[in-house]
Amino acid sequence: MYSIGVDVGGTGIKIGVVDESGNILYRGNCVTDVTGGFDKIISDIHDVIEDIIDQNDIEKNQIKSIGFGIPGYIDRYGKANCVNLNWKKVDFIQKLKETFPGTDIFAENDATVAGLAESRFGSTKEHDTSVMITLGTGVGGAIIIHGKPFSGAHGVGSEIGHMMIGDGWYKCNCGNTGCFETYCSATAIIKYAQKLLSEGEESIILDICKQNISDINAKMIFDAYNQDDEVAKKVIARFKDYLAKGIANIVNTIDPGIIAIGGGVSKSEDIILDGLKEMVRGHLVYKEEEFADIVIATLGNDAGIIGAAILG
Ligand code: BGC
Ligand code: ZN
Repeated sequence: MYSIGVDVGGTGIKIGVVDESGNILYRGNCVTDVTGGFDKIISDIHDVIEDIIDQNDIEKNQIKSIGFGIPGYIDRYGKANCVNLNWKKVDFIQKLKETFPGTDIFAENDATVAGLAESRFGSTKEHDTSVMITLGTGVGGAIIIHGKPFSGAHGVGSEIGHMMIGDGWYKCNCGNTGCFETYCSATAIIKYAQKLLSEGEESIILDICKQNISDINAKMIFDAYNQDDEVAKKVIARFKDYLAKGIANIVNTIDPGIIAIGGGVSKSEDIILDGLKEMVRGHLVYKEEEFADIVIATLGNDAGIIGAAILG
C-alpha cells in the first residue's frame, strides 16, 4: 500500500507517492497559483496526482490515504487557515473528500509534518521527544511528544515562529511585532541586509546581487559571510543571537531530547551550528544541566512530502 504526501508551500507544491518505509517512489509538482484562489490550487493538485497515477500504472486501490502539509492550521471542523495563501477558514477537508472520493484525507501544519518525518526516518528518530524548527520564508515549529505531533488543545499550538522574542522591527504576517520569524526566517535575514545596505554600508552583497537589493536571497548573504563581508557578518550575528534566544525558550519550556533545524536557511549548516549550543546555554535557566543536541535536519526538501504521507 502507498500513501500520497502533498507539501503545499507558498510558491510551489510538491507531491510524492510514498511506501510504508518512507521512500518516495514517484513524484510530481506544480506552482502554487495563489491568484486562482483555493479551488484552483486544489484542482491543480488533483491533476498532478491523476498524472502520477496514470504514468506509473498505480491502481487506485493501492492508495491508502492522501496527507497534506499546509503553511497554517486546520481547525477542529477541518477548515484551513493560511495567511500566506490567503486562506481564511476554507473548507479544506470537505473539499478534498469531494475531490478524491473514497480516499482518506489528512492534513496538518507544514512544519509539523516535516518534524514528524524527521522523527520517524530522519535526524530525530532516536528520540522520544523532539522539536523541529523550519527556517524558510516563515519560521515553523513541530513538537513531537512520545512520537506524536503535539499542537495543543485547539490545534493552534506549536507556532514557534510567533514566539515574541524581541522589541520588533517590522510587522509579522500574524499582525504582531517581535516574532521569532521576524528575526530568523529567510525573509527577516534578507530584510535586515537590505536595511543595512540602504543605509549606505559597503558590501560585496551589492556585487553579488548586481546592485538590485530587491533580488537579494539568503544564500547570497551566507556566500558573502564566507568571504568575510562585514554586512553579512552583522546580519548573521544578529540572526544567530535571536536563534539562540528562540531555542533557549524551547529548551526552558519543553526540554526536548533533540532539536532539529530544517528549511532553506538550514543549508548553511556550519555557519548556523558553529558555537550555537553554547550561545543557547547562556540563556538557559539551568545552565549547568545537559540539554538537547541541536542538529540540522537530514531529510531536506523531502521531509514535507514524507511527513504528509505518513499522517494516515
Ligand atoms: C506559519 C506557520 C508555518 C510556517 C512555515 C509561519 O508563518 O505561521 O504555520 O508552519 O510559517 O511555513
Ligand atoms: Zn508572528
